[in-house]
Amino acid sequence: MSAPVVILGAGLAGFGVARELRKLDKQVAIRVVTADAGAFYSKPNLSNALAWQKTPAQLVAAPRAAIAAQLGVDIVDHVRAVELLPAEHALRTGDGRIDYGRLVLAIGAQPIRLPIEGSGAADILSVNHLDDYAVFRRQLAGKRRIAILGAGLIGCEFANDLAGAGFAVEVFDLAPQPLSRLLPAAAAAFFARGLAAAGVRFHFATSVGRVDRHGDAYVLRDLEGRRFEADLVLSAVGLRPETALAKAAGLTINRGIVVDRQLATSDAAIHAVGDCAEVQGLVLPFVLPIMQQARALAKTLAGMATPVDYPAMPVVVKTPACPTVVCPPPAGLDGAWREEASADGVRALFVDAAGKPLGFALVGAATSAKQALAPQMPAWL
Ligand SMILES: Cc1cc2nc3c(=O)[nH]c(=O)nc-3n(C[C@H](O)[C@H](O)[C@H](O)COP(=O)(O)OP(=O)(O)OC[C@H]3O[C@@H](n4cnc5c(N)ncnc54)[C@H](O)[C@@H]3O)c2cc1C
Repeated sequence: MSAPVVILGAGLAGFGVARELRKLDKQVAIRVVTADAGAFYSKPNLSNALAWQKTPAQLVAAPRAAIAAQLGVDIVDHVRAVELLPAEHALRTGDGRIDYGRLVLAIGAQPIRLPIEGSGAADILSVNHLDDYAVFRRQLAGKRRIAILGAGLIGCEFANDLAGAGFAVEVFDLAPQPLSRLLPAAAAAFFARGLAAAGVRFHFATSVGRVDRHGDAYVLRDLEGRRFEADLVLSAVGLRPETALAKAAGLTINRGIVVDRQLATSDAAIHAVGDCAEVQGLVLPFVLPIMQQARALAKTLAGMATPVDYPAMPVVVKTPACPTVVCPPPAGLDGAWREEASADGVRALFVDAAGKPLGFALVGAATSAKQALAPQMPAWL
């Protein structure tokens, strides 16, 4: 029998490729190798699980055995790959060697850690996996004051979820506004007011430089030396694609593992998808690009070479205190934001010199325009 397609990683990207490939080819042997438990869960649910009253265990959509049976794949769980051996078409793992015919790297990204000083710095949590979330939820028990580092998408979603569940939430960000990479000024101001009304306290244009343990709590100092107290500190300042294995194996990396539009790395037998991959210069750590990649790569692996397409892919920000949907303009296109604010929302269009819309950001009641606007937006790839 020929060597299997080995998918390294059991997140939305790894399972996405497995699911799409199985639809096209009922026979091919697919082996998913993962450092985690190999259960299927939807990561976006981590940042609104309190609102849905879900425990970490209830977020598992299918345990390992169930998803393995559903997809007709073999899952090797709790096994970490420590070296890629491209010349031998093999992986070296903590538990021996695994041979592949084609290898798909779906190994995700790592949370960025800020250089923070103090006796409590090592206690700062990040959530980028169900297991991290289980730790976070255990530590939340009995706590009241939560400090969040980062007012990006994930920081704001957690802030809204925690505030909604009755926690006192303070959010710190170097930028002068929340969602600074996604929202223009008026939209951001509306968004900040919505979350503030739900109880979130923002501190913009600053960052936390020091966290010290103080009994059961923490004392935080921001860059101006101001003092804050919290019972738990959560960092949500961004992710860095996981590139170490690929780099050590001599594959081309940049911000992520560099792949072409057929998701092939610099070694034609190795592909990369999801948060670890950089597709023609784009690292897009979101569900819709991953689904596009999974569908295209499955076709390629099934023998029908297929480049990935990126149509406009709006991202819904899961902040019920201020409904928000963003569709950033394709990278490198020039233009300017035009914002129309009303009492109940802001509709912002990013337009080129001729007035043609290239992207949008909608907050509050303006989110109702999403369906009409999305088809007008240009594709990214
Ligand atoms: C809290 C949160 C909320 C989000 N909400 C949204 C949202 O609303 N909408 C949206 O579009 N996107 C959202 N995202 C982003 C989206 O969830 C991610 O882009 C996506 O889940 C990434 O999937 P992945 O499979 O690439 O990576 P991961 O889910 O990180 O999977 C990586 C896998 O690789 C395995 N692995 C890594 N290294 C090794 C190794 N050496 N050996 C073996 N296994 C290894 C890991 O165990 C894991 O199984 C959110 C992200 C977070 C953190």
